[in-house]
Amino acid sequence: MKVTLAAACGFCYGVRRAVELAEQAEKGTHTLGPIIHNPQVVGRLAEQGVSPVDSLDEVEKGAVVLIRSHGVGPDIYEKADKQELKVIDATCPHVKKAQQDAKNIIEKGEKLIIVGEKAHPEVISISQWGANRAIIIDREEEAQQIPFCDSMGVVVQTTFSQEQFKRIAAILQQKTNHLDVHMTICTATQQRQQAAIELAGQVDAMIVIGGKNSANTGRLAQVCREQDCPTYHIETAAELDTDWFSGMNHIGITAGASTPDWIIQEVVKIMENLQAEGTEVMSEELLDKYDYEENPKKGDVVKGTVISVNDDAAYVSIGTKAEAILPKKEMAVPAPEKASDFVKVGDELTVEIAN
Ligand code: SF4
Repeated sequence: MKVTLAAACGFCYGVRRAVELAEQAEKGTHTLGPIIHNPQVVGRLAEQGVSPVDSLDEVEKGAVVLIRSHGVGPDIYEKADKQELKVIDATCPHVKKAQQDAKNIIEKGEKLIIVGEKAHPEVISISQWGANRAIIIDREEEAQQIPFCDSMGVVVQTTFSQEQFKRIAAILQQKTNHLDVHMTICTATQQRQQAAIELAGQVDAMIVIGGKNSANTGRLAQVCREQDCPTYHIETAAELDTDWFSGMNHIGITAGASTPDWIIQEVVKIMENLQAEGTEVMSEELLDKYDYEENPKKGDVVKGTVISVNDDAAYVSIGTKAEAILPKKEMAVPAPEKASDFVKVGDELTVEIAN
């Protein structure tokens, strides 16, 4: 099986930086919101003692708080200061620039327009730096409704479509005597989409890896399908079904900007070990690693890898189609207080199938 990875895929600069800062953070650090839209990464960090909170009200005085790549408004920095929190600022530098541009536009007395999704945390943070005085739009019809003004400053959500922005900017040009456009679109998203489109045109099927709640991963799957390429959106290798690729010779793989390298590599390895013509044969190495059987039976002893863990149980990948639940009471005698005290994501275990 030939497997080709998209020329641009996986973590973008801002997300990689944020995740690395979180990994280096001391135990007990809180991220303000999940660090990225990827449950496996959030789960792995939680095991290291870095867990998300929804608000600073949940954080004890003097604790460490990490601000994720989407950024936050100035009120959060002030509140953190009052609570004597130590702040690790992982706001992506591209987002920081958009925030500062919004602030400068308001200070110059211009009308501030933000082009982006109103409910997106990044757009909310940019708006807050613009003293919450921005008009936020993401459609041409909304641009048409903006009243004429003398001077207008425009900031764009970093992941917004270039094409859509050009159409909106042409309308805004008619709404002011002086248009000051701050081109804050980041190219990471566009590069990933372009690379996915090119690869989808060359392969028999595409695998798109990333959180099911990640908008940019969903968009990657959509652009692949638009090329009439059979496309499978999965979060981890455990979801792969080798039947999907029966009779195929060349598979393309891409991943959203919030998908870590280790999940991508796991999928690539499994796919490279599928034989052409759809026979579901894996390499000796992988058979060894996973002790792979399609349907492990009661009493079988198999090797597996922990793919997620919570207080009560660990979820163990025991092959490409199977996932076992290992309750904490089966881990040790006496049972640990929390399953996550006993195992962590990535641990390799030998388990006996109970039923
Ligand atoms: S997509 Fe661009 S702006 Fe957004 S976090 Fe990644 S590098 Fe930063």
